Amino acid sequence: MWRLIDLGWTDTLAAALTAEEDQTLVPGRVSLEHNHVYRVLVEGGECLAEAAGRIKYLASGRSELPGVGDWVGVRLDSSGGRAVIRAILPRRGWFSRKAAGRETEEQVVAANVDTVLIVFGLDKPVNARSIERYLVVARQSRAAPVIVLNKADLAEDRAADVAEATAVAGDAPVHAVSTHEPASMRALEPYLLAGHTLALLGPSGAGKSSIVNQLVGRELLATGDVREWDARGRHTSVHRQLVVRAEGGLIIDTPGMRELQLWDTDSAVGDAFADIAELAAGCRFRDCLHDREPGCAVKAAVEAGELDAGRYESYLKLQHEQAATRRLRDEKALLDAKRQGKIGSKAYKALQKQRQR
Ligand code: GDP
Ligand code: ZN
Repeated sequence: MWRLIDLGWTDTLAAALTAEEDQTLVPGRVSLEHNHVYRVLVEGGECLAEAAGRIKYLASGRSELPGVGDWVGVRLDSSGGRAVIRAILPRRGWFSRKAAGRETEEQVVAANVDTVLIVFGLDKPVNARSIERYLVVARQSRAAPVIVLNKADLAEDRAADVAEATAVAGDAPVHAVSTHEPASMRALEPYLLAGHTLALLGPSGAGKSSIVNQLVGRELLATGDVREWDARGRHTSVHRQLVVRAEGGLIIDTPGMRELQLWDTDSAVGDAFADIAELAAGCRFRDCLHDREPGCAVKAAVEAGELDAGRYESYLKLQHEQAATRRLRDEKALLDAKRQGKIGSKAYKALQKQRQR
């Protein structure tokens, strides 16, 4: 049976809950979302809950609705009905993706992740560009990235692969493991401390499910008085998207994590390319895009062979993608403002014109 502390409860969260107007709320952590019904872990058990009308009404996008991993304040229903999520406590960080079908709407797929394992399979050559890309996503979520090179049993030269990944990993640790060699998996144990939340990211087929199975095994912490039923009241067993290990630590494994795209990386691209940011200090123009600008120190470094051309191209590509997403989002914000009557048609058209320039 879990206690709040096993789920990652902190003093900061406690203070945030105390600050809520409604003093009857019970703290809980969202472990599953399905058709707007949430499974919420509370002290010693769990309940099914729905988001309060106020939360749904005030949410301007899906990122303001509860997501797996979120800490929430719920009002329990003493007669055994659904509980109501009345507050979402501040997130420390989150992974999001563009909601299906809506290009610019952000959907939270995992919140409050401490460590993200970025998993690759050594059945394929180490792909530095791919590592960089995932690192950008990780930094944006505020989770500490760890590079896991799985399927080490298939590697020709583990040490060389680790070295290659380490060269682009920045301060992220790199581990070569194999789910076929259980002893190697112990390298990941330090990331599963009590109350610590882990998530996995990486290309399909890299072995994420296999790793989760190894880390979780059968050692799931049993819930207290669990009532499992679906929307029609039938008894059902569900695959949890946030699991609590008996040995300590939590693992988030949501389908959404498998389809992540870059959302708003803001400074994240720069963070993942600290070497380029450093070179950029020598560019002639402060707002240099390191593309075709004269006096660009970054391009000079590529030409002098001091900066890998592939890394440079990867950087440019991510920058462009980030800018494109931001433009789409700005467009949506403008449209929203117009719909809500915050700006009139004339102002809207003028701003739109300005944007297109
Ligand atoms: P996911 O798509 O990232 O969740 O990958 P899966 O966990 O489904 O694994 C994809 C395939 O790789 C499966 O056939 C696994 O059995 C296999 N696999 C997973 N880990 C290892 C490993 O360490 N070594 C080898 N040789 N195969 C592995
Ligand atoms: Zn430059």
